[in-house]
This record gives sequence, C-alpha cells and structure tokens, in this order.
Amino acid sequence: MQMKKFAPLQRCVSMACRYSGHLPSPHYDVIVVGGGHAGTEAAAAAARLGAETLLVTQKISTIGALSCNPSLGGVGKGHLVKEVDALDGLCGRAGDWAGIHFSILNRRKGPAVWGPRAQLDRQRYREFIQSELSNIPKLTLLEGAVDELLVTEENAQKPGRHRVTGIRLANQIQPLSASSVVLTTGTFLSGSLFVGRTTSPGGRIGDAPSSSGLSHTLRETLGLKMGRLRTGTPPRILKDSVDFSQAKLHPPDSHPAPFSFLNTQTHCKVEDQLPCFLTYTTPSVEQVVHDSLHLNCHIQEDAKGPRYCPSIESRVLRFPGRSHQVWLEPEGLTSDLVYPQGLSMTMPPDMQLRLIREIPALHRAEIHTPGYGVQYDFVCPTQLSPSLQVKSTRGLFLAGQINGTTGYEEAAAQGLWAGVNAARSALSMPPVALSRTESYIGVLIDDLVSRGVTEPYRMFTSRAEFRTSLRPDNADLRLTLKGFEEVGCVSALRYEQAVKVRDQLQDGLAVLEALSLSAYKWRQKLPNIHMSENKNLVMTGIAVLQYNQVSFEMLASVFPQHLLPYQEYSQRLKIESVYRLHCDEQKREIERIQKEEHMALPQDIDYLSLPASLSQEVREILDRIRPTTLGAASRLQGMTPAAIVHLLSYVKTIGQKEKRKKKSYV
Ligand code: FAD
Repeated sequence: MQMKKFAPLQRCVSMACRYSGHLPSPHYDVIVVGGGHAGTEAAAAAARLGAETLLVTQKISTIGALSCNPSLGGVGKGHLVKEVDALDGLCGRAGDWAGIHFSILNRRKGPAVWGPRAQLDRQRYREFIQSELSNIPKLTLLEGAVDELLVTEENAQKPGRHRVTGIRLANQIQPLSASSVVLTTGTFLSGSLFVGRTTSPGGRIGDAPSSSGLSHTLRETLGLKMGRLRTGTPPRILKDSVDFSQAKLHPPDSHPAPFSFLNTQTHCKVEDQLPCFLTYTTPSVEQVVHDSLHLNCHIQEDAKGPRYCPSIESRVLRFPGRSHQVWLEPEGLTSDLVYPQGLSMTMPPDMQLRLIREIPALHRAEIHTPGYGVQYDFVCPTQLSPSLQVKSTRGLFLAGQINGTTGYEEAAAQGLWAGVNAARSALSMPPVALSRTESYIGVLIDDLVSRGVTEPYRMFTSRAEFRTSLRPDNADLRLTLKGFEEVGCVSALRYEQAVKVRDQLQDGLAVLEALSLSAYKWRQKLPNIHMSENKNLVMTGIAVLQYNQVSFEMLASVFPQHLLPYQEYSQRLKIESVYRLHCDEQKREIERIQKEEHMALPQDIDYLSLPASLSQEVREILDRIRPTTLGAASRLQGMTPAAIVHLLSYVKTIGQKEKRKKKSYV
C-alpha cells in the first residue's frame, strides 16, 4: 500500500500560522475561507496547481471535522469520493486511513451503481486531513474568522459587476489581499442552532456562526440571491448503555475495498474492523414525536431540510404508522459513543431520551450529547458558472454547503473543482469544466448551476444519465489523465500509475477480444456455464465474460498463457467487458450529438406533447425558448445530454416520416 507516512497532529498545529499581528504574506493567489470538506480540498487543489494559497478557518483543530455521521461514501456519494481521489484530492485516502467498517452498498445491482462506503474513526480522519494539509508546499494555514469579503467595482461603466480583492479577519484592520477567494462556510453562514424551543447562534455545536458581515456583502453589495436551509443531527449515545443483543449485526465486507486508486488495501485490517447494528423504531416513538411537536421550533420552521436524510420527526409525520430503520454505528475504534443513524432530532433533550428508550436496543440508553438542528444561509447556485465562480464577481468562488448541497462528498467534490479554478484564475489560466458525460462531479455542478436547489441537494446515481460509463471503478481512467494533462491538479506519480493501468486494461481487453471461438467450443471449455447462443456463433472472451457466472479467473484457468499476466486487473476487466456494449452505445450517442450540432429543429414542434422520455421540465424549457438548432438546445439551462439524445431521435423520426409521406405522394 502506498499510504503516505502519517505525521502526528502536533506537527500540523505547530506548522500552522496563527495570526499574531504579522502575517506570513500580505498577498495570496488564493484564499480559501473554511476548513471543512470543501475548504480542505479547495486549498489542497489550489496549492497543487502551484498557487500561493492561504486556508483561513475559525479553528485549526476542527479542520477535517465530520459534523454529523462519521462515514464516507455510499450510493452516488462513493462515486464522488472516487472521482475526488482520481483528481488527487484528499478524502479518499483519508477514508482509507480512518475507515473502521468498509462495505459496498447496492451490491445486488451492477457495479456501475455500487456504493463504496466506510464508517470512520472521527479523530483519525481529522488527523489525516490536518497532517496532509500541513505537508503541502505553497499552502499556509491560518486560524481566524473572516469578517468581511473585500470587493471592488469591476468597471464603473458596468455597475453590478465586481472583482474580489481579499478578505478581512475579525478584529483586524489590515486586510489580506488575494486574486481569488473561495468561500466554503458550510452551515456557518448566519447559522442558528435549535434544540427544543431554544435557538442560539452557531454553525455547529461548539462553534460560532460565520459573521453577518459576510452574508451582508454577498446579499447587499454583490446582490446575490440567497435562501435558507436546515439540517440536523442525532443524539450521541453511550456505547455501554446499548443492548446490542436486541439489534441485528452487520459485519463489514470480508475484503474491504479502499477508496483510493493509490491504495491496494485499507489501513484497518478486516479483523480489527467494527460491526454496525440495525434496529427499528416502534409505534411508541411516533407518540413521543407527536407529544413533543409543540416544543420543537426547528420542525416548525419554513426552511427546507434534507429530504433524503430526514429527521425522525419528519419521517414520522410523512410516513405515519411505519417502522423506521435505525443503524447503530461506531464513532471510532476506541470511542465510547454510538451514532444512531436515522434518529436526527431537535426536540428537547428530555423528550430525546424518552424517544430513544422506546427503541428495543436502546431501552436503557444514555445520551452523551443531544441531537440538534442547524439553519443557515446559502447562495442560489444558478448565479455560478461551471467553474464555480460567481458570474458577477471575478475571482469569487463558492463550494460546499454554501451552494445548497448536503454531505461531505458533495462538498469535497465542489471544493476541489473550485480550488482548481480559483488557482487557474489567479495564475491567468482559462477556467476548466467537467461535463455530465465524463463525471459525477460534472453532473453535480451542472445540476447546481443550471437548475439550482429548492432543498439540500445530495448525489444519487439516478442523476447521472451516462451512469454505465461513469462507474466508481473507472474514475481514474476518466479523470486522472485529464487532471494531469489538462487541469494540472494531479501529481506525476498518480498520472504514471493511471497510464500504466490504462495500458494494461487496453492490452487485456485486446487479448480477450482476440480469444474468439465458436459457442460450441466455449461450451466445451466451460461446461458448467449455460450458453444459449447458436453453436456456430463466434464469441470473443469479452462476450463470454458478459455472462454473470463467468469470472476472469475461469477464463484465465482455460487460457493461462494469455490471461494470467492480467490477473491483477481481473475485476476491472470483468466490469469493462460487462459494460462494453452499453458504453460503446453511449459514446456513439455523444458523438452523434456532437456531429448533429447544426441540425435545424423544426419550428412547429409541439414540445409539450412530446413523449414522457423527456421530462416535463425539459419540455417546458424547449416550448418556451424554441431553439433553432440541436446545438442551441443542448446549451439551454436545464437541458441534459439524455434529453438531447431523445430530442435528436424524435426529430430524426419525424424527418423520416415526412420523407416517406413525400415519396408516397410521388
Ligand atoms: P463545513 O464542513 O460545515 O465546514 C465549514 C468550515 O468553515 C468550518 O470549518 C468553519 O469553521 C469554517 N468557517 C465558517 N465560516 C467561517 C469564517 N467566516 N471564517 C473562517 N472560517 C469559517 N450532511 C449529510 O449529508 N447528512 C446529514 O444528515 C447531515 N447532517 C448535518 C447536521 C449538522 C448539525 C451539521 C452541522 C451538518 C450536517 N451535515 C449533514 C452536513 C455536512 O456536515 C456538510 O454537508 C459538510 O460538512 C459540508 O462541508 P463544507 O465544507 O461545505 O462545510
């Protein structure tokens, strides 16, 4: 395993520059505000591109803190972690170091939608991130709260357009100047915490909110449209007080798969990993929720909460009479606490205790820290360009929860991309974008900037139209090469490794393609596999690997001299073979769209009555704008590549019908 040697926490803190009247430099290429999941990736990426970077955050000790669940990845989110890693980001390697329970979710479905996930040791995760940051050249860490964002009018002739010039720290007169600023203030922007009927200012328990000065500049000076969202976290429970005998044991995977393409194994050995447990709510839980509703401010607020990670109050109110899953998850290898996933709540602490004791495994549970809710400002992300720069303010980039997303992975992905573009802008390089056809990061950013958010946005595989090509296993081939050759955020070491993998996979697939025999002969070689093909049909090794029951190892035992050299890539070759037809078809679709860019769209199409394969939203956009060419349609806000494929097929079909009609008249 090529895991970097771990430097202890003390080293990181001593290397960090604490503000003491004289700053290390009055000007930076990039200043990143916030040391959460977006901020750390942004700062690391900007520095990797060679920009002099300053990361300013309220508390250096909370850099890399996991505010809510100590876990990383999952369905859709695991794709983001793999992509961040492929672009040389931190979170994948941190997850491999800190993981204490690894599992692949969604295994019953195809590998394109598997969700790599790990339960983490909170402290180890934080230490890894802090240690990594302290070792990145050109990156300085500074503890302090940013009070003000400094901007100037870009051009007196064009009011409303601004340029960022730097930041000012709380209680400091001297500003810090920067060519680019990345704001990643998470849940802290005008944050308020809620427990029961008590509300207090805060970004997270134990942390003050971001100053109102920052919100004021965004809203009043820059005129940005902003909104308010909310989220919450469950109480933490003392492990000794849980009756695990009343919950179902869920062991980790027997072969833990690392997130990072640089690692061949996880740091925690499988025998040392901890189990999770599953239990369920009872009807009495519902009663406690109803009894406490009048004591619960958060649940009565208008701000939208996360639909896919709702509080127990929202679940009970939305689905009355149902029993809800509660996962009991470890908080760390030596932690005394358990995280009850599914029990996010904001009722008063005494009611929280009453509620959890209505759950079988928690009948004598003790609460260590009560659950609470947080409400915060976000910036409507349609005001950003695909580089995550605010359209109206040159040099200002936003990433993470401030853009209306929820989750560490979504934040990390945006942070990395904002950091890349902030550095490129500061170094006078053109911006770079990732498309929906090449990455989940592209899907995430496109969704944010073209559709905006009405509730906290989280990633799902269903959001990606080209998901058979955008798999967790091939994120390195999709992004590492581009990251090195075009973007500049990937190290030579990682690039060389990805090139080697690409070459080996190409060679292995060529060998499989060349193993071409009749179905009859394949049946003789693999007698236990039922093949329905005509006996004379010629099949390649790739076609045979597409059978569920056929593994690469089976083929390698039949053709050892051909295939054993590729044994190391057995799983990847199997997955590549399974998806080859789909991916080729998708590639052709993408090329078809590019070729038909100038195709004229008939102006009399009744878009509103087009088939349901086009969403109502897309049909309405087309009806309203009536683009003249396919290329113009593809550039409309809210249009997806899949919608363009459907539109192309539709227009071609009506074109063919017209032609046939004309012929029949002749
Ligand atoms: P954060 O991780 O919040 O980091 C923001 C950083 O900015 C902090 O380090 C802060 O100190 C710093 N900062 C803020 N303002 C300033 C300033 N003015 N000057 C200097 N530094 C500043 N996600 C889920 O997916 N599911 C959940 O159920 C869920 N529940 C949550 C519950 C709670 C109570 C909280 C607080 C968060 C929850 N999250 C949840 C969200 C998850 O924590 C975030 O999505 C993720 O941490 C966002 O990363 P970020 O980098 O945008 O911001």
